[in-house]
Amino acid sequence: MLPSSPLPPGAVIGIIGGGQLGRMLALAAAQLGFRCHIFAPENDSPAFQVATQRTVASYTDYDALRGFAGKVDVVTYEFENVPAETAAFLAGRVVLAPGVAALQTAQDRVAEKTFISGLGLPVAPFAPVSDERELEDAIGRIGRPSILKTRRFGYDGKGQTRIDGRKNAATAWAEIGRAPAVLEGFVTFEREISVIAARGWDGEIAIYDVPENHHENHILRTSTVPAGIAAATARRAREIGGRIIAALDYVGVIGIELFVAGDDVIVNEIAPRVHNSGHWTMDACSVSQFEQHIRAICGWPLGSPERHSDVVMTNLLGDEVNAWRKLAAEPGTALHLYGKAEARRGRKMGHFNRVTPRQA
Ligand code: AMP
Repeated sequence: MLPSSPLPPGAVIGIIGGGQLGRMLALAAAQLGFRCHIFAPENDSPAFQVATQRTVASYTDYDALRGFAGKVDVVTYEFENVPAETAAFLAGRVVLAPGVAALQTAQDRVAEKTFISGLGLPVAPFAPVSDERELEDAIGRIGRPSILKTRRFGYDGKGQTRIDGRKNAATAWAEIGRAPAVLEGFVTFEREISVIAARGWDGEIAIYDVPENHHENHILRTSTVPAGIAAATARRAREIGGRIIAALDYVGVIGIELFVAGDDVIVNEIAPRVHNSGHWTMDACSVSQFEQHIRAICGWPLGSPERHSDVVMTNLLGDEVNAWRKLAAEPGTALHLYGKAEARRGRKMGHFNRVTPRQA
């Protein structure tokens, strides 16, 4: 459903999910004069601290969803595991962006890879797997090493296992909990990069510079911009991002993770939301990915994605957040803390952007 005119300041944006991404969306929305209503099941959701209204309920509580839809002017979401039925229920009552189809494509690794390869864009060789025998056949075709991933609900390396020379199909199948899966060929990449892109209701597209991403234990550690890649590689990545966001008829910000292998740029996965590898935009661009998402879903003109500084974004995981005092004293460092009470191991507690004058 296309809004007939831009939502004016004072309108209410509904956000499904109350984590740090919802929190940073709500902060950006407030900056433009919007109010936010957060829908999340956890009482202590970080986004509640910065929003004017909240609903604490399960994502399948249809009475609560009906009430929420009646109180907001547009709905968006901050994580990709919103049940598709919930998204469809909301879309029948209020403008929802990104739409249900994009969400469903990104929720299922097989649908996602089929969609991307259908556009003629490169993905790792893949095969759907629904039992141990199919896995054995798939290993026969795709070879080793390969990676077995659950079709759904994987994040930060959870729900996946590498199949190397020794591991047999039965072990791998048990390791991922015998859930519907996809076997992927192993990509020997030199770098991981991503594309953070936005698209408005009118089809306008804005794409940020390409960050280079380093992971530790499958969790994003840093994003560096500019990336250490050739200009042609960056152009190719942005072109891929533009093709995907347009083909999904997407409204809002999307994060697309890619591998660079030689001259090839290979799509790994799509996140239908603002993305951790776009947090650097908060301090190196005049319009951050969060503001861009709010602009897009509210029918405002997109902001310029231009980067005015070089930047390294570093995540603060678990008790690393205790370094806040030192980081706060560092010139050129912008600190962002998420207001989470408990610094559990590996939990994303905040991030900081080290910003330097733009060199290239
Ligand atoms: P994902 O959950 O798909 O984002 O995968 C998490 C991480 O595992 C990626 O960031 C890569 O470092 C690695 N990985 C995933 N898929 C592959 C692949 N097909 N080949 C090589 N490494 C991969």
